[in-house]
Amino acid sequence: MKILFVTPECAPYVKTGGLGDVSGALPATLAAQGHEVRVLMPAYSGMQVSGGAGIAVEIPAHGQWPRAQLLQVEAGNGVTLLLLSCPELYDRAGGPYVDATGRDHHDTARRFGFLCRIGAALGTSASPCPRWRADVVHANDWPCGLAPLYLAQARSPAPHEPAAASVMTIHNLAFQGVFPMDTADLVGIPGHWRGIEGVEFWGQLSMLKAGLQFADAITTVSPTYAREIQTDAFGVGLQGVLRTKADRLTGILNGIDTQLWNPATDQLIPHRYSAADLAGKALNKAALQQRCGLSVDPRAMLFGLVSRLTSQKGIDLVLGVLDATLASGGQLVVLGQGEPALQDALLAAAHVHPAAVSLTLGFDEALAHQIEAGADCFLMPSRFEPCGLNQMYSQAYGTPPIVTATGGLADSVVDATTQPGTGTGFVMRSQNTAGLEQAVGRAMTAWRDPPAWRQLQRNGMGRSFAWTESAARYLEVYQRAIDSAQG
Ligand code: ADP
Repeated sequence: MKILFVTPECAPYVKTGGLGDVSGALPATLAAQGHEVRVLMPAYSGMQVSGGAGIAVEIPAHGQWPRAQLLQVEAGNGVTLLLLSCPELYDRAGGPYVDATGRDHHDTARRFGFLCRIGAALGTSASPCPRWRADVVHANDWPCGLAPLYLAQARSPAPHEPAAASVMTIHNLAFQGVFPMDTADLVGIPGHWRGIEGVEFWGQLSMLKAGLQFADAITTVSPTYAREIQTDAFGVGLQGVLRTKADRLTGILNGIDTQLWNPATDQLIPHRYSAADLAGKALNKAALQQRCGLSVDPRAMLFGLVSRLTSQKGIDLVLGVLDATLASGGQLVVLGQGEPALQDALLAAAHVHPAAVSLTLGFDEALAHQIEAGADCFLMPSRFEPCGLNQMYSQAYGTPPIVTATGGLADSVVDATTQPGTGTGFVMRSQNTAGLEQAVGRAMTAWRDPPAWRQLQRNGMGRSFAWTESAARYLEVYQRAIDSAQG
């Protein structure tokens, strides 16, 4: 199958969260299974990409869209990267979504609209890549939401234009790409698709809704989240649309990149270890305590947290149980960045308890690995979590996670209290401070029983979170989308 994976971010080149990890791993798994996979993303300034450079394809200016180049790079993992180079749109300071001051890029809709335009073109006979036309265009999150619409547009004139099927994946429904309706002119949405059956969302244009309306298949990143987003509590205003599309909506749990996230081979941690020999884990804990300025004490239970610091992630709940956790002999190491009030509260806690609480503000891939390896237990009390990756990394690293029973957390963590033989972590019984405090208490009790704790660690380390199985599910969805587009 010829698969075009369109994404605003892709590890290891540009990553702000889970979508970056998925974009790095899923296409490579599909390529390893024998499919022709290309990943299309913007050529952001400062991106370090190594690999065999192929020919650069010129894309002439067309209508409101600028001139650009498509740079083809063989990424070395069977995937061809297609970097959309357009200095006017992508060669500037900041990240994929925000400028150097942290504000949305002033021309965000156009930046991603253009990415979608080229993604859709790669699925038609007007493909800018000579002799390569995608069978399926896989669009990810709202930045890619217009690609299914453009493909539907390509298919609509008679005589019927052959065009790729489209799949839209929701990695987080909370981010919807909503813009004033006059943006529709800028990105070329026909008048008859600007209403409620099209892109309209409370009088504005929603790029994610465009993707949901026009995609041949929709997926999200866990079975539980697929159910949750059809409810008023989790649907963020799109539950009605999702309910009408329920027959084409599938939840597929993300995998993890088992080459990058494997404690037996991880080069970013000081001491490697495995389920058979956990000795290195204690050394990683001491190294982490030292690095973060905490008292180097094997008897202190060390809780780790790596996250965007937002209310979605339940950081306020962590703050709510902090005093009780420290009073019981716990320590907390946090890596993240996000809402100023949460950052300030964590900084204040670290200031008051320098030997027991550490906060590192920023994005640091190596420290993220060191926390997974060095912490005893991982905190992830998210209010909603489409899939979540850290709870899977922490199970692989023998660091049982404490999670809420939502989305991908519910689908990937087995509660050790209710299922002691197979448990891999602790599932909170209520999504509030009391629920977290109770779960922390259960974890501390379990940790003080070393044989039981080792069993819990080994249960998690023995699970397979490899992408292979989920990739097979995506292939089924791609095929269904192709059948539906042809039918
Ligand atoms: P989300 O995509 O909602 O942010 P996920 O759990 O799906 O959450 O994925 C987050 C990914 O980003 C994980 O790989 C996690 O380790 C990483 N991450 C988050 N914050 C940081 C940070 N400050 N430094 C390094 N890695 C981070």
